[in-house]
Amino acid sequence: MAQFPPPIRNPEVKFTKLFINNEFVDSVSGKTFPTINPTNGQKICDVSEGDKADIDKAVESAKAAFKLGSPWRRMDASKRGALLYKVAQLMERDAQYLGSLETLDNGKPYMNAFGEMMFSANMLKYYAGSADKVGGKTIPVDGDYMCYTRHEPVGICGAVIPWNYPVCMFALKLAPALACGNVIIFKPAEQTPLTALYMAALCKEAGIPAGVVNVVNGYGPTAGAAITAHPEVDKIAFTGSTEVGQIILQASGATNIKRTTLELGGKSPNVVMDDADIDSAAAWSHEAVMTNMGQCCVAGSRTFVHEKIYDKFVAKSRELAQQRTCGDPYEMTTKNGPQVDKEQYSKILELIDAGKKEGARVECGGEAAGGDGFFIKPTVFSGVQDNMRIAKEEIFGPVQQIFKFSSLDEVIERANATHYGLGAAIFTSNIDTAMMFVQGVRAGTVWVNCYNPPCYQAPFGGFKMSGLGREMGEYNLSQYQEIKTVMIKIPQKNS
Ligand code: NAD
Repeated sequence: MAQFPPPIRNPEVKFTKLFINNEFVDSVSGKTFPTINPTNGQKICDVSEGDKADIDKAVESAKAAFKLGSPWRRMDASKRGALLYKVAQLMERDAQYLGSLETLDNGKPYMNAFGEMMFSANMLKYYAGSADKVGGKTIPVDGDYMCYTRHEPVGICGAVIPWNYPVCMFALKLAPALACGNVIIFKPAEQTPLTALYMAALCKEAGIPAGVVNVVNGYGPTAGAAITAHPEVDKIAFTGSTEVGQIILQASGATNIKRTTLELGGKSPNVVMDDADIDSAAAWSHEAVMTNMGQCCVAGSRTFVHEKIYDKFVAKSRELAQQRTCGDPYEMTTKNGPQVDKEQYSKILELIDAGKKEGARVECGGEAAGGDGFFIKPTVFSGVQDNMRIAKEEIFGPVQQIFKFSSLDEVIERANATHYGLGAAIFTSNIDTAMMFVQGVRAGTVWVNCYNPPCYQAPFGGFKMSGLGREMGEYNLSQYQEIKTVMIKIPQKNS
């Protein structure tokens, strides 16, 4: 396969129903909802709308798949890994189509959508290899006993996922869940229901037994809430806003204390010291906030720049934003497509207005790009003060806020003055400065002289209100396991 096959414009939509027990089925209510193409605001198609009754069906199917003695429970761990590997291969086979479908439904540039497919396939392979390496321990306890631990699957997992990286988020929950022997029910975001359904079809084609993977599209307060409230769902893995994360944690606690992982919002600080390579720092900082039209939980949305290089850095950032190619996401050169929907588009424009009113300076952009789609011009604000709304709220758009600072101590304090703690970065040529920042900043990931390079082997997650638990890497596997301690009386223990 060529590295970047061209996109398929207007990809055929093959699946629009719910996926339960390895079959595509209508919702119990028969209801549907439209999914919209953000590039032109037009309806793509109608998709079955699931709610509580459909979640109940999906739970029944998942329960049967997870029953003691079922094909899935009896399957060798190595075979589970092989199935995940097969799904990855099918994704690679269909990456051109899947990427094109993602661009249609989400609006992200096809080049990025294709990259997301390859990243996700590689992540599945990583976890495929770990399936038969999840093991317990033997423990030298006191007395005539043998003690060992079994790392068992948690059971029925609910995955409520967002629209910003629909396939990556699907793969990120699917892979560790299945590697550890769980079964899973997805509730994709209502903005981007299509690629999850295609992924479900690939799971079936790969040979994953019925009921192990289920996909119920629908809205958050109905289908999503039904998963989090269901007493027989054992675990919930959520990615999305901090507000909904709080609702989910409450629902988990109020029902059956679901094992809960949350990957939430951020307002991540990105610090540029006066001894940094300015060109490199400006380029990384630009991508840190503009990638995926700013729709990234870990966007570097607070750029702190040392006063000695401030004006120069602002000028470079403005130039980069002005040069960012905007428009048709199917064009291979496009870097900035539309925002995912009207609601996000309006919210971002409202925050841009607030920035202007509160006195930040618009260096470029600062408005919609026109047309029928939800396009916003890449925007750079300078002179941003910590108390402005654009300094505190997650914008989730292509909007860079540039702050001025004068010392490391000051910037660490300001970087930490937020209830978020997802990512942080520092650009400097001084290792001592870097290490002081690494230790001082309260964030789940810290980058030095780079920002968020693609990586699925390292853990990812938030301090404070940016989340609970860690995803990706080996650490994620522990979030999908229960530890069972087994003690056996033996006649005599010898060392
Ligand atoms: P959201 O949190 O509302 O939605 C994420 C998922 O949760 C969707 O599948 C949604 O249907 C579901 N959901 C919503 N309400 C629910 C409920 N009561 N119970 C169960 N599930 C529910 O996010 P959004 O509306 O798509 O975006 C709003 C903001 O969230 C964005 O502006 C951005 O700040 C943030 N966000 C963050 C991420 C991230 O990766 N951390 C992703 C998307 C959005």
